[in-house]
Amino acid sequence: MSATIIDGKAFAADIRSRVAEQVAALKTDHGITPGLAVVLVGSDAASEVYVRSKGRMTVEVGMESFEHRLPEETSEADLLALIAQLNADPAVHGILVQLPLPGHMNSDAVINAIDPTKDVDGFHISNVGLLGTGQKAMVPCTPLGCLMMLREHLGDMSGKEAIVIGRSNIVGKPMAHLLLGESCTVSIAHSRTKDIADVVRRADIVVAAVGRPKMIKGDWIKPGATVIDVGINRVEAEGGKTRLVGDVDFDAAREVAGAITPVPGGVGPMTIACLLANTLTAACRANGLPEPE
Ligand code: NDP
Repeated sequence: MSATIIDGKAFAADIRSRVAEQVAALKTDHGITPGLAVVLVGSDAASEVYVRSKGRMTVEVGMESFEHRLPEETSEADLLALIAQLNADPAVHGILVQLPLPGHMNSDAVINAIDPTKDVDGFHISNVGLLGTGQKAMVPCTPLGCLMMLREHLGDMSGKEAIVIGRSNIVGKPMAHLLLGESCTVSIAHSRTKDIADVVRRADIVVAAVGRPKMIKGDWIKPGATVIDVGINRVEAEGGKTRLVGDVDFDAAREVAGAITPVPGGVGPMTIACLLANTLTAACRANGLPEPE
């Protein structure tokens, strides 16, 4: 039997409309408009696309969008000065510095200069520490989106075997912490993992965040498992065109899995929806208001 396809696009649209309602209530009841500042340094083509859609969706849910585009050759000191200005600006509740930054900048120093309460990407070292110790943190958007889809689909995950393939700071590691928080038994695989197929075969939950097209094969998947594919890989298609595929061999895996996210239309849309939800949370916290559900 073919797997249930987890529709991230529809789920993300639901989240955005809930955020929009809560933003409207915040304006009416408290006169507060949540504001998200996005900083883009240089002109990386993929980053340009992300920043444009983030800006558009921020405005669509009724928030204020502040875009700061800086030239590639901007000095780190100038970027830090802009961050200090945004930290101090009460109209800005969330700050996102689009990665990757140009090579002459120290990304860690830049990210850690953001006020942690405005760090809606959840990459600041204090948010990483809070998440790692199971405390209330600003959670990175992509793993948060994956968790929301898993909760929606599976409900209680306690005791399930989960594998996260990939150990990056922005996806793999925070995802593993979130699954641990759900009381899963968590394995983290990476490029040095031996017999990765065997580790994946044990898992009830598979989160793939590798960046290698169709690396996870259908016969690695345990029958009935839930598969979340974070990978976004552009590959050549017929007629000299390109198309996006995930890290999982979708057509083969869907014949075995219980549920699976497609690429595109799975994790991707959830990431931006979670960014907006985090910005709303930051605005509520900054004003001492109860956090949205
Ligand atoms: P990174 O390149 O930072 O990390 C990739 C991870 O995969 C590393 O931990 C690496 O291991 C591991 N890896 C590489 N090759 C193998 C292999 N052969 N076997 C097992 N593990 C391997 O990537 P990101 O975490 O930033 O992103 C992962 C994917 O998710 C990318 O396709 C990216 O485009 C996508 N992505 C999608 C988002 C969305 O919104 N949908 C958001 C963010 C990312 P090691 O540490 O040993 O090198």
